[in-house]
Amino acid sequence: MSVRVVARIRPLLEKEFDRDTIVRPASNDDGRSSTVVKIPNPRNESEEFSFTFNGVYDQPTTQEELFTAEVAPHLKSLFLGLDVTIFAYGVTGTGKTHTMRGGLKLADRGVIPRLLSGVFRRAKKITKDSDSETTVTVALSYYEIYNDKVFDLLEPVEKRTPSGLSLRAEANGKTVVAGLSERPCHDLKDFEQLYIEANTNRVTAATKLNAHSSRSHAILRVKVTQTTGDMIRESTASAIDLAGSEDNRRTDNGKERLVESAAINKSLFVLSQCIDAIARGERRIPFRESKMTRILSLGQNNGITIMILNLAPLRSYHLDTLSSLNVSSRAKRI
Ligand code: ADP
Ligand code: MG
Repeated sequence: MSVRVVARIRPLLEKEFDRDTIVRPASNDDGRSSTVVKIPNPRNESEEFSFTFNGVYDQPTTQEELFTAEVAPHLKSLFLGLDVTIFAYGVTGTGKTHTMRGGLKLADRGVIPRLLSGVFRRAKKITKDSDSETTVTVALSYYEIYNDKVFDLLEPVEKRTPSGLSLRAEANGKTVVAGLSERPCHDLKDFEQLYIEANTNRVTAATKLNAHSSRSHAILRVKVTQTTGDMIRESTASAIDLAGSEDNRRTDNGKERLVESAAINKSLFVLSQCIDAIARGERRIPFRESKMTRILSLGQNNGITIMILNLAPLRSYHLDTLSSLNVSSRAKRI
């Protein structure tokens, strides 16, 4: 089991060019790479807090650079049978969706389309290899967790029940979402079609509930099955665009938002506890304490977990940024 926690600081948007920035990476002794993020103490700005990560990606970092450094190296492990889980964590507006989904232009594509592209490339290579009798199939599931309820994003919104899908414990100890759909996916084009359709479902559902999609966790699961004769090797890559980590109570104290806030805060807190326990090499990981971590069986397999903490450098995010730094485990405050 291994875990990496890295920070990515987004650049300023055009409309933010004249705004005050307060978050910065501190360079290491080699003067180049950085593993430290610095932010002023809001109570005493002459003092700075430092948080240490496994890696820090500053504003100019491209989508390709991030993917190449943090995700691509694990594709091999995925095909060796290990599960790979990638989270984007952070305040709304800091770049989680940009990091995971990204834009339409090739260079702007995020972790998810690049991951699929890498999976299909490897699958093709394995299948084409004339010595190999191995076939590879790829299947997708995509769901969201909103207010601790699970909804299938590959199904039309009209088919949703108010209570969502239930979880079921299987004989092998794994937890599965009962009735969650799984679609075979043959190439990148297949994937893109499914993904666009599912993301439209997500927005439609949120609009119907008068909610915002930043208040739900979106979980894409890519199941890779390799078959050689009687031998079947199955592994999954999960990519998660988490709900915004800001405290909604501070900005909006309607009743609905309070319910959402409690559910979001609890699941993000459990997630951080799990990441922390994995990082420390502890055997007891509190993955059963939230639906998201339970479905992912977080830390139960011999897998790889990568948490990307997205940060906006702006002063207007000061308190929320500080609390996201505090919560993202392994981000030790010095
Ligand atoms: P979140 O999903 O965390 O709420 P978004 O991904 O929607 O945040 O990002 C907020 C805005 O910032 C969007 O307009 C997005 O395109 C832009 N953005 C985020 N990260 C970057 C980046 N690394 N480079 C350029 N623009 C970015
Ligand atoms: Mg988003």
